[in-house]
This record gives sequence, structure tokens and C-alpha cells, in this order.
Amino acid sequence: MQWKIFTYVAAFSALILALLWLFQIFFLDDFYLALSTRSLRGCADRLQAVSYEELQSTADALASKNGICILIFDGGGGRVASADTQYNCLLHHADAAWLTSLVRSAQANDGELTSRMELRVNGDESRTPPQRLLSVRVTATADNKNIIVMMDSPVAPVDGVLQTLTSQLALITLIVALAAAGVAALIARRLSAPIKAISRAAGNLAVGRYDIPFEGKGYREIGELADTLNRTAAELSKVENLRRELIANISHDLRTPLTMISGYSEMMRDMPGENTPENCQIILDESNRLTRLVNDLVQVSRYQDGAAAPDRQPLRLDELLRETVDRYRRLTAHDGYTLTLTGLSAVTVLADRDQLLQVIYNLIGNAVNYCGEDKTVEIRQITRAGSVRVEIRDHGEGIEPEKLPYIWERYYRIDRVHHRADGGSGIGLSIVREILEAHKAVYGAESRVGSGSCFYFEFPTVSDTPDDAAAQP
Ligand code: ADP
Repeated sequence: MQWKIFTYVAAFSALILALLWLFQIFFLDDFYLALSTRSLRGCADRLQAVSYEELQSTADALASKNGICILIFDGGGGRVASADTQYNCLLHHADAAWLTSLVRSAQANDGELTSRMELRVNGDESRTPPQRLLSVRVTATADNKNIIVMMDSPVAPVDGVLQTLTSQLALITLIVALAAAGVAALIARRLSAPIKAISRAAGNLAVGRYDIPFEGKGYREIGELADTLNRTAAELSKVENLRRELIANISHDLRTPLTMISGYSEMMRDMPGENTPENCQIILDESNRLTRLVNDLVQVSRYQDGAAAPDRQPLRLDELLRETVDRYRRLTAHDGYTLTLTGLSAVTVLADRDQLLQVIYNLIGNAVNYCGEDKTVEIRQITRAGSVRVEIRDHGEGIEPEKLPYIWERYYRIDRVHHRADGGSGIGLSIVREILEAHKAVYGAESRVGSGSCFYFEFPTVSDTPDDAAAQP
């Protein structure tokens, strides 16, 4: 980058210098002559625009204004006007034959001739002779009288000026080249230093060090890049922590039932008396727990890959709730749990049946797991105009407000040690979240430490149910 910036700045400076050299030095002479020629032509134009009588006065005015000599002849060769402001004027000191030859050349050249001449002083070869610009025009006055306008203008010596300009420009070129190099180096350093620092820090990401902060001072864009990278590093570090936790959790979760299964099987093989239905049941329960865990893992990754897009069909949410709660009641009744279901009314929603079932299962399962002493879970259906809300409430220990946002994340468990034995994998709520988001449903959790939690989700109702139709305004 440093070299690129340097090249751009150098190229830009070179362009400016080249233009300066071109116009100031190489074309100066041509420019000057072109200007002088234009000025002489302007004078001739003015002279042919006046009447015969006014020629002398106009010639005087033009000659003194422009510092030139003017000589005007009529068609017969007689002098009509003369203005001599230059001591070494070529015209006023020339012989008639030379003047005639000039007129002939002008006539041969469409009546106009401009020529640069050197004023040679005999015997003086040491210095460059002064130069003159001669102009001859064969024309007529405003009142149609033929005239020949001859003008002589001194040509200032540009050589001296050129020399001064050349040495000045050489100096300017040197200064500009040095300045360009300095500026380029400065810009490159200021631009590339923070980028280099960021790329050095980014190298740490590759080797798994996420705690090195990215600093992007100086430019807004670089600051934004640093912010983005800092956020990325934070996310990566979170993912890395989750990955570690996942391995720890899963290996723990897999090991516990496997130990039980192998332990009990060995015991039953070695001790005939232990071959009881209860022990078989333990093995069965533990293998079921394993199956559940593996299923959860498979499912969450399917949802996250987007492989399980919901197959939405109209379904009776109230019936689904009743069925699920009934099944749960049967499963938990012998442990003394009470599940209440209130507010049921016929309501149809558009949803994937299996997925919605999973949501309700997971939420009720969590409420049962965390419901605390009173072992009561309240499930409520609240039907509103155009939507239905399902709430699952327990009176357990609740969730601390600062932990509440994280419970939906994969493998997140608030009290890892305590609940491990419950067989929870920390995946249940993330499956709920994936499903509800795929359905674009509103969902959330409210909780107060000590008084329990309430998990809810809402679906728009489909208007073909009688209740819902009645609720429509
Ligand atoms: P798990 O399988 O561990 O229950 P979840 O994803 O279902 O995993 O829940 C994540 C965490 O959220 C749980 O470990 C628990 O700490 C907390 N949680 C979920 N539901 C409740 C609830 N009803 N009451 C209190 N804490 C809850």
C-alpha cells in the first residue's frame, strides 16, 4: 500500500511539473509570438476600420499604446501616416526596395504577412541580436481607399526569462519531488499503520486468541472495521466457550446413562437375584434418556440448518393442548404433579403440528422440571381477537433477570450442576425458539426470582373457527 500511495502521489506531482515545464519553458516562445502577432493584427483591423483622414491620428494612438511603429502607404506608394515610437525601427530606416519586396510577399500571401526578423548590428556578433516582428497588410480603409499598413513591434528577448524560469522550475521540481515523497510516506504510514495493527490482531483470531482488542484510531472506516472485528471476536469467543461446554455437557450427559446401563447389565448378568423387572426398567429408562438426548441434538441442528421448514396446516390448538396436557398428566401424576389447563375454546392456527407439539412438550417439560415445591404447572389459553396466546406458568425458583435473555441459547443452563441429573441438555428452549421463529410467532418468558416463571407464545388465529369469526369486529 505504501508503494502504491507513493506511486500515485509521485505520478500526480510529475503530471503537474510536466505541465509547468511544457507551458513555461517549451511553449513560452511560441505563446509570446502568437500573442504579439494577434496584437499586431488587432491594430491592422482597427486601422482599416477608420477613414482615410483618421489614419494618422489612429496610427499615433495605436503606436504609443502598443509600443510599436506604424507606416501606412496609399495605393500609389505615397506615405499616408507614420508613427515612429521605436528608435531602431526597421521600417523607418529601411530602403524603398526592401519595403516593396515586403509588400510583394504580403500580396503573394493573401495580402497579409507577419514575419520575425533579427536586427543585426554590423560587427557585433557577441550577443544575440534583438528581434522584431514585422507585419504587412494590403487592405483598404473604411471609405474604400487602398492602403498598405506596415507595423514593426519589438520582440522582448525571452531567452533571459527562460533561463530564470528554467532554474526556478528545476528548483521547484526538486522541492515538489521531495515533498511528494514525504507526503506519500506520511499518508501511507497514517493509513497503513492502523490497518497493519488490525491485521496483526486479526492474526490472533486464527490461533484462537479472542481476547486481544482491535483498535482502529484515526479514520472512521477503520474504527468501524475494528468495532466489527471486536464484535466478531466476542461472538467467536462465545461460540468457542459454548463448544467447550457442549463437549463437557454432552460427554457428561452420555456417560451417566451409559454407566448406569453397563453397571446394571453387569450386575444382572453376574447376580441371578438381581435380574428383576425394576432393574430392567432402570436400563430401559436410561436408554430412553440417551435416545432423548441424541434426538434433541439431531433436531436442533436440523432446525438450525433450516432443513426442517415448518409444514403449516390449519390445526385446532385447543385440542393439541388438551391432548398434550393429558399425556403429561398421566406421565407425572404418580410423582404428585398437578397440571391445570384453563381458557380452552375452539381455535385454529396455521402451524406445523409436530413442531408445535414439540414446543408445548418442551415448555411443559421445563415447567415440570423447575416448578418447585408446589409441583403445580398452570397452562392457559387466552383467545383474543385475531390471535391466541398460550401461557405455561410455574411457581418455581424463577430466573434472574440478567440470565433471562440467555435461556434461549443452545446448551445454556442456569444451574449446570444442579440440573444435570434431570436429564436436561440445555437444548429444549433453543428448539422452541427455532420453531417459533420459523413460524414467525411472538414468544417470550417472564420470570421473578422466588415466584416462578411464565413462558408464552402467540399465534394469529385462522378465521374459519366459529369462535374466532365471532370475535372479528
Ligand atoms: P434444559 O434441558 O436444561 O431444561 P432448556 O433449553 O429447556 O434446557 O432450558 C435452558 C435453561 O433455562 C434451563 O437449564 C434452566 O436453567 C432455564 N429454565 C428453563 N425453563 C425454566 C423454568 N420454567 N423455570 C426456571 N428456569 C427455567
